[in-house]
Amino acid sequence: MSDDLHDLYQDIILDHNKRPRHYGALADYTHTAEGYNPICGDKITVYLVVRDGRIEAVQFEAACCAICKSSASIMTEALLGKSLQEAAAMQQRVTELLSTDIEVDLSVDGEVAALAGVRKFPARIKCATLPWHTYQTALKWECET
Ligand code: ZN
Repeated sequence: MSDDLHDLYQDIILDHNKRPRHYGALADYTHTAEGYNPICGDKITVYLVVRDGRIEAVQFEAACCAICKSSASIMTEALLGKSLQEAAAMQQRVTELLSTDIEVDLSVDGEVAALAGVRKFPARIKCATLPWHTYQTALKWECET
């Protein structure tokens, strides 16, 4: 990864931390879950509206570090409008980006690629994966209607 590219990834992370997208509780959600990372103290709640197998809305609230908040913000942008299959593939890709040395490509992975920068800091990987795991947990939750 060139230094320029690395700076670009860092810019994306910082920008999402400063201006998190889709932040706040979502009324009328169909799925929700809370996630907690005891290593860092990150707490996050993910809200989803899933209809006909598609993610129509996704928002989050968090009391967490910059990496966790950025990852959650990037996740909401990445998942919005996706089918559950596409979202599962995206989640798989993020796990790969964070846990292996595979090449990343902004043109293929979009802003999710920026998360690969976190793998240089192994202690923070759980901060980056927490929102994605919480999303997965939320899918298993069904509200009583
Ligand atoms: Zn953290």
